[in-house]
Amino acid sequence: MIASERGEVGLAAGMELLRSGGSAMDAVEAAVILVEANEADHYVGVGGLPNLLGVVELDASIMDGATRRAGAVAAVTGFPHPISIARAVCDRLPQHLLLVGAGAERFADEVGIERGETLTEEARQLWREGLGPDGLLRAAENFGPGEVEYRRQAIDRLAAMGPHDGPWGTVNVLALDAAGNLAVAVSTSGYPWKYPGRVGDSAVIGAGNYCDNRYGAAACTGRGELAIRASTARSVVRALEAGAEPARACAAALAETAELPDDFRAPVQALCLTPDGRHGAASTREGSTYSVMTADDDTYQIKERQRL
Ligand code: ASP
Repeated sequence: MIASERGEVGLAAGMELLRSGGSAMDAVEAAVILVEANEADHYVGVGGLPNLLGVVELDASIMDGATRRAGAVAAVTGFPHPISIARAVCDRLPQHLLLVGAGAERFADEVGIERGETLTEEARQLWREGLGPDGLLRAAENFGPGEVEYRRQAIDRLAAMGPHDGPWGTVNVLALDAAGNLAVAVSTSGYPWKYPGRVGDSAVIGAGNYCDNRYGAAACTGRGELAIRASTARSVVRALEAGAEPARACAAALAETAELPDDFRAPVQALCLTPDGRHGAASTREGSTYSVMTADDDTYQIKERQRL
């Protein structure tokens, strides 16, 4: 199994499932559930940073390399484990792939997925500090339909947001099971203070998540708008198909992604795992890492990503 930064908290649990003959799909879901439950992680699940209005909206997806089936949810509120809703979409709603907002929440209730508070006091405090004393917070609190001034300020605020410093926190977990199947799970609270309803690459198959048993599995973190525009995860798998080594496949896809014109210039990162267990990762940011755990390991190891 491999994971993006802060995904390591789930690797031991996922590996235990794999060791006892569990599927890659079960392993990546189990690992991501633990990351979503980690309140100290402000970019995934419970404790995730809210949107402009102070509401935590979560995106997640899961993809099975054997069938290339996938499930995804976006802008989900009130559920700590969006990855399990995505899994249920994949397994139990085969005529669809992506559910958003109220529809995703309705489906989660129907299949019995647990509801719960996702906004922690610490995340609320970070939101208050993040919006600043300049009136946007007051406007957000009084938000109602047709508040042109609020929308103008929100858009100005987004335009003025600098690149995110420090690692972006979406979690990617990739696994290869004993039967030779690959799976990828991705979960995020997305861009901090995002415009309500904004959906990033984590819920978009081909952008933040792609998995094909023939060539490999890939996933992304960082500026989701760029990963969507460049179909980055799919491009990593295409590079693997063309024979590139894992880290080079990630670097090639990221090079194409990072050359897109974009005023925000936040980092983008990718990692991948091949059907024969090779792995690699790349980042536009210095010092970025990923974690790896094999069936023989007692614990995970941290590896450097190739710097673009
Ligand atoms: N990729 C995520 C998004 O754009 C952000 C992140 O990695 O934290 O929603």
